[in-house]
Amino acid sequence: MTTPQLSVVIPVYNEEAGLAALFARLYPALDALGVGYEVIFVNDGSRDRSAALLREQWERRPDVTRVVLFNANYGQHMAIVAGFERVRGERVVTLDADLQNPPEEIGTLLAAMDAGHDYVGGVRRTREDSLWRRVASKAMNRLRERLTHIRMTDQGCMLRAYSREIATAVAASREVSTYIPALAYTFAASPVEVEVAHEERAAGESKYSLYKLIRLNFDLVTGFSLVPLQLFSMFGMVVSAVALAAYVVVIVWRIFFAPGELGIRLLWDRDILAFFLVGLVVFGMGVIGEYVGRIYQQVRERPRYTVRAVLEAKDGAGEREQGG
Ligand code: UDP
Ligand code: MG
Repeated sequence: MTTPQLSVVIPVYNEEAGLAALFARLYPALDALGVGYEVIFVNDGSRDRSAALLREQWERRPDVTRVVLFNANYGQHMAIVAGFERVRGERVVTLDADLQNPPEEIGTLLAAMDAGHDYVGGVRRTREDSLWRRVASKAMNRLRERLTHIRMTDQGCMLRAYSREIATAVAASREVSTYIPALAYTFAASPVEVEVAHEERAAGESKYSLYKLIRLNFDLVTGFSLVPLQLFSMFGMVVSAVALAAYVVVIVWRIFFAPGELGIRLLWDRDILAFFLVGLVVFGMGVIGEYVGRIYQQVRERPRYTVRAVLEAKDGAGEREQGG
């Protein structure tokens, strides 16, 4: 395999139903670009026939195909990291295996890189997702943008291009639970966004449940910002200050004006206030827990993933190695 100019990284998890269609569109689209390329599929511990299908494809096009086989399911972003650790191209493009990101749009991303950008984020022209996903992701986007200063119009779009330097920096970051587009953004000198088409899933079903989406958004905020912790200390200070002031007012009121204590009693419901504050304290503990959990994952320094085998033309197939 000669050194390619372009590396395409594709995470694959239980995509047996759609892989044939992906191969049928991806390779012609890449051939049409007229640049040397390689495709790195990372099988994220699929429990269906995905790994076998990837092996067949590697046998068909060993010149431009490499396959990393994980031992187990480590998540889409770890799969991309494993790809980034192995890319040889000067430019790196990521896309989903389900054909929601049309491979024909890769040229659009590369054109933006030709214009001098080292980070190109795709923005889906029309989203083929359910209404609640669109509304929820819009709200989360706005919040995340304010908390982390990472500007991404469309955080759910994985059709993106990075310079080799950024991909290397991402791979070297050794973060445990991360979100590649946001992490990469922090290394970008000249980020830009371009509109790309978006299609419905070709086959199979989404691997993301509501729970996973909420988790992802927690990771996005706590992984890139300390603002939630800081807000909490601010809030704690404000509450104590207000409580102190209220205490002074109540006492002064009792001493001088109201033996019956009616006025303040009207507004003062200690039970409701207590519930409110207990709720906030528990939430605050949760926020701290998010950070503690991240620290815990990070200090354990376990391998983030383990690779069963790498299929590639050089050095022969079936090599064994430990995870990164
Ligand atoms: N994916 C993965 N590991 C996982 C979940 C998903 O590698 O644990 C891959 C999946 O095969 C697909 C991409 O990540 O290529 C995006 O997943 P999906 O299409 O299910 O997400 P959605 O488009 O619904 O956000
Ligand atoms: Mg998808």
